[in-house]
Amino acid sequence: DARVKGIAESIRSIRDFPKPGILFRDVTTLLLNPKAFKDCIDICVERYAESKIDVVAGIEARGFIFGPPIALALGAKFVPVRKAKKLPGEVIGEEYSLEYGTDKIEIHVGAVNPGDRIIVVDDLIATGGTLGAALRLMERVGGEVVECVCVIELPELKGRAKLNGKPLFTVVEFE
Ligand code: IMP
Repeated sequence: DARVKGIAESIRSIRDFPKPGILFRDVTTLLLNPKAFKDCIDICVERYAESKIDVVAGIEARGFIFGPPIALALGAKFVPVRKAKKLPGEVIGEEYSLEYGTDKIEIHVGAVNPGDRIIVVDDLIATGGTLGAALRLMERVGGEVVECVCVIELPELKGRAKLNGKPLFTVVEFE
């Protein structure tokens, strides 16, 4: 896809953030390029245009940037998958392990109906822990995850292995 080069070039890389040794991929510079941002959304919308998607689930925080325009274009619900204790209503949550300790994500009860066809969206997959937890949460409430979607994949970290065999679509890969 000829659009991918422009998308990849508009993503900035910052050394030693948030910790020494980490090369952080910064999508805020993609958002400053309306052509590249639109191309990125269009690629995802085109992919699922005929897939009868009911729910786009976006993972806090940057899944909240890419998920809603995809949801609107597909005529789907947008469901925010939030970090624990942020949502005001009754929630259902799923824990996942970090390098040290655990974290938890939550959605509102009733946001996803049994049988809903879902894509789960985030900006980036590294180890796959976050996306894997979102996937398990969707399946626990009876949703059918059609595919996971990330703008960026870091294939060296083998995050796909955490997705329990579910397909993952990514727009760009960085070594
Ligand atoms: P994982 O759970 O190890 O796959 O990490 C993915 C989560 O961490 C996503 O929610 C990302 O937004 C965030 N993340 C990890 N590394 C980066 C990065 O280099 N740039 C932006 N987000 C990152």
